[in-house]
Amino acid sequence: MKNLVFATNNAHKLSEVKAILEPEYKIISLDELKCYDEIPETATTLEGNAFIKASFVFEKFGLNCFADDTGLEVEALNGEPGVYSARYAGENNDSKKNMTKVLNLLGNSANRKACFRTVIALIQAGKTTFFEGKIEGDISLIPTGNSGFGYDPIFVPEGYNRSFAELSSAEKNLISHRALAVKKLAEHLKQQI
Ligand code: IMP
Repeated sequence: MKNLVFATNNAHKLSEVKAILEPEYKIISLDELKCYDEIPETATTLEGNAFIKASFVFEKFGLNCFADDTGLEVEALNGEPGVYSARYAGENNDSKKNMTKVLNLLGNSANRKACFRTVIALIQAGKTTFFEGKIEGDISLIPTGNSGFGYDPIFVPEGYNRSFAELSSAEKNLISHRALAVKKLAEHLKQQI
């Protein structure tokens, strides 16, 4: 079995990824490495931040590693909030305030097109490979639903009439940006076994 670090502190993401990659790969979390550093996400692109996180771990521990970064990209807002999705309405990642800011900026705009995009950076023996997962949809007029997190209540995936927050986690995981990116990572890794 090959070891691979997933540079995340998010237990939900970790179990999602383990379900796909284990048992062929043993996925190690930052917690298991006792890595509690605050890794600065200072890049201006999703690719840049995913790379910063993965290379921090690779440099510090010398272990093969991957990291992800996700953003909501709204067409009429020139791709915002994008890489700033977590802190769009301030530093403390307040989902309600972030959603309100998007809805207020969009107003009654007829163009409500948006997508969620996840980028994964994988570093193996110093070589970096990127994987992208993307789902298109629309920003609703008001938030609906209680499941999920972040911008889920205002994002309606294409072909659905319910927001991400009205889907079960199993339904969301079948189509989500993150699941698509992880699937591409898994296909790449399985070719190496
Ligand atoms: P991260 O890079 O996965 O930490 O995501 C950055 C921010 O994007 C999060 O704080 C959320 O606000 C938003 N986000 C990421 N993934 C999702 C999702 O699946 N649904 C809704 N919002 C998300």
